[in-house]
Amino acid sequence: MVFTISSVFSKAALQGRRYGLHFNQMITKADLLSYVPPTFVRLSACSACQLACPVCDPHTRPEKRNGVLGWGYLRAKDFAAFIRANPSVKTIELSHSGEIFLNPELGAIIKDACEQGVTLTARSGVNFNRVSPAMCEDLVKYRFRYLNVAIDGGDEESYAKYRVGGSFTQVINNIKTLNFYKEKYDSALPELEWQFIPFAHNEHVVLKAMTLARELKMVFKIKLNSRTEYAPVKNKALIRYLSGSNSATRQEYSDQYGLSLYLSCYQLWTAPQINWDGKMTGCCANYFGDTGNVFQDGLEAVMKSKRYLDMKMTVLGLIKPGSDVPCSRCPSYLSEVPMTTMIRSTLKSALFPVPGAPSLSEALSLKQS
Ligand code: SF4
Ligand code: SF4
Repeated sequence: MVFTISSVFSKAALQGRRYGLHFNQMITKADLLSYVPPTFVRLSACSACQLACPVCDPHTRPEKRNGVLGWGYLRAKDFAAFIRANPSVKTIELSHSGEIFLNPELGAIIKDACEQGVTLTARSGVNFNRVSPAMCEDLVKYRFRYLNVAIDGGDEESYAKYRVGGSFTQVINNIKTLNFYKEKYDSALPELEWQFIPFAHNEHVVLKAMTLARELKMVFKIKLNSRTEYAPVKNKALIRYLSGSNSATRQEYSDQYGLSLYLSCYQLWTAPQINWDGKMTGCCANYFGDTGNVFQDGLEAVMKSKRYLDMKMTVLGLIKPGSDVPCSRCPSYLSEVPMTTMIRSTLKSALFPVPGAPSLSEALSLKQS
């Protein structure tokens, strides 16, 4: 019997664009559980960071770093072997929980990627405090595609309250150095994003930050705070307007669109997360366990493994996970919202953008005039 996934997704939702999975008709259980060589993966370049942001997971939940992620950085030789063994992978997201510019082999990695025709991005965010002029030149010369720079302030005081240990002036100077090389090489790459998390202590400088972003040729985006209890914004009307999604908090977003803004389960299909040492964690929210080592066992074998399939089956609501399945300890799975509803809406928005609602990636973008 063909198991259709129509009980999970409506037929209407099956029409339209699809990422990573190759079909236009009915999605079957076999489709969702089959191995499709990924064109995009997330491969963490470094798990360490020199800053101490108050609600950053590494500092608020150190047990995560003692667990599956550990502390370390991606070696250039592992990267080289990985991209050669997996020619389907055309784009790699390097940023995860840590600062990629602390990786001493990053220069060799981005040079190799460029020469092998693999696109690199850092859309999840970098703090950009410690970046040498030589690295700025390499980012331009080797055509690094996209950098999201986390700058939650408009001056030293408002910035340093959250980016503890960082320097606003240093970050701005590093961006200016990068722009110098973009002009020198007459290149539009890397594209630059200024990511601003609004808090009570920086919301008064958000317009100043937007102006500075424009001067530095950066796209400005609001990211909503992940911990509502930490320094919640007071001027919600302003943040609702600037967020582009009419939301001042993640809860407001969920209430309006029926979607969890940053739920990452869909990455199991469209953007599998690999740790710096090759451990497959499947999604960027998984700090609980891995499903095998890609550097040792190969990407295909790991993505076909029972442990990986168990994660997929869990988020599709097809099994109740045992304690050996990482999802069983994930707050998303354990949250009050029924899992199948969350997964259904998030997968739908990831694979088939919902008409009228901002997509996950576009929800917080702010168009500049
Ligand atoms: S810059 Fe990013 S990784 Fe570093 S402490 Fe802050 S939130 Fe965490
Ligand atoms: S439930 Fe599983 S796949 Fe979803 S975010 Fe949590 S660990 Fe990732």
